[in-house]
Amino acid sequence: MQENNNINVLGLKDVTVTKLEEDNEFVHVHACVDKMNTCPHCGSNKIWVHDHRIHNIRDTHLHGKKCIIHLKKTRYNCKSCHKRFERKLDFVAKKHTITLRLLECIVRDFSSVHSISSIAKNFNVSNSMVSRILDVICTHRLALPEVLCIDTHRAHVSLREIVVITSINVHC
Ligand SMILES: [Zn+2]
Repeated sequence: MQENNNINVLGLKDVTVTKLEEDNEFVHVHACVDKMNTCPHCGSNKIWVHDHRIHNIRDTHLHGKKCIIHLKKTRYNCKSCHKRFERKLDFVAKKHTITLRLLECIVRDFSSVHSISSIAKNFNVSNSMVSRILDVICTHRLALPEVLCIDTHRAHVSLREIVVITSINVHC
């Protein structure tokens, strides 16, 4: 076990790390979101704490181990405009409980051949989360035409064989 106070080993904006614990497999980072003083909607400083919640956010490996950030978030109520709000964090992937940099690592893994379950295991996330990320980054392909024309010829300059694939519907 290791403990450190008032350090931000992760370089996360608007967050204060309060404790760092390590076991054989995980690094547990305990942190809290920095306090807010004004309402982001109306600028009033008449804001009150509504509640605190702990979010477990998976991050990239730290010290060669899987990393979980136990992040204490605070929700506020504004007495002037009556809106409820919390600090927006730019390092958490939208609609996920992982950091943006972990999402980027997972996306980079798609460039080589891995199974969804091996990526999920490697980054300590669920298979369904990897599938959802894959769905978001997959671009739609154009449909193939009904008839494809395939021809080959040898280029004059390089003497390489060139394959031409085209839609016969468009060019005939
Ligand atoms: Zn307000």
